[in-house]
Amino acid sequence: MPLLTIGSAAYDTLETPYGFRDRSLGGSGVYASFAASFFTESRLIGVVGGDWKPEYSGLLRSRGVDLDGLETRLEAKTTYWSGRYFDDMNARETLCFEGNVMSETYIPIVPESYKTTPYVFLGNGSPLTDMALLDAIEKPKLVVADTMDFYINGMRNELLALLQRVDGLILNDSESELLTGRRDVLTAARLIMDMGPRFVVIKRGAYGAMYISSDATYLVPAFPTQKVVDPTGAGDAFAGAMMGSLAESGDLSPESVKSALLYATVVASLNIEGFALERFQYVTRADVDKRAAEFRKMLVS
Ligand code: AMP
Repeated sequence: MPLLTIGSAAYDTLETPYGFRDRSLGGSGVYASFAASFFTESRLIGVVGGDWKPEYSGLLRSRGVDLDGLETRLEAKTTYWSGRYFDDMNARETLCFEGNVMSETYIPIVPESYKTTPYVFLGNGSPLTDMALLDAIEKPKLVVADTMDFYINGMRNELLALLQRVDGLILNDSESELLTGRRDVLTAARLIMDMGPRFVVIKRGAYGAMYISSDATYLVPAFPTQKVVDPTGAGDAFAGAMMGSLAESGDLSPESVKSALLYATVVASLNIEGFALERFQYVTRADVDKRAAEFRKMLVS
């Protein structure tokens, strides 16, 4: 079943121990919709400025991402983010974030053909934008949101209103602590479920991820990637792949959720082996399935 992703389409300047890239293709919506395209029909809603490189749209389209919902505002500038990673790659510093064309009050234009999309992923972006999108979509089957420190700190009330309208929330452990004040992930997840979502997925970097709902808890370790070149977009690729896989299976059975978590982990690991989408853009479903089979063999069952 099709998946609609909303999120940033951005230029990213990246600094890691392996090198530097200036204004590469990036953005939460880009990583997530690309990762979802391995599994299902993937639609992206977002906005870029007049400085957007058409070849970036070409790259996404060539991999099957539907960009009918990617608006261009010629007079504005594309979203820009720059970050620097430290030696162990687990910590990063945001050097600059300029929302530019994707302001906190950006109202998306939703193409008619997208309005009945059953699966919706709200990638990192303003909760006000996400709520405007939900207003335009007719009875989606599953809505999952991502969030980050920028919105937890800056738009907390709007985020809390959004949480009333989603089925699931996906975030990392430092974000769950920021949102709830609790470091213990199980307690944090339960507090988040009190805010609205029926399930929470907490990403824990090199420690893997956890899915928590009122009746189940699942754990998945991280895939042991040998060379992490650029972790940017790992969280978005994880979430996009998870949603793509759930949309592909069409239900939330324990098997589907576990398989989605496994695929999400594998796709995130493939994303971080190169800068931006430089390597990721050539990954195929066959590569994903090959690594998923390797990963399954490693897991204790
Ligand atoms: P991740 O590494 O999964 O946290 O995602 C990093 C991506 O998120 C980069 O490609 C950035 O362009 C994008 N990004 C960073 N800050 C924001 C923000 N405040 N809103 C939306 N997207 C962002």
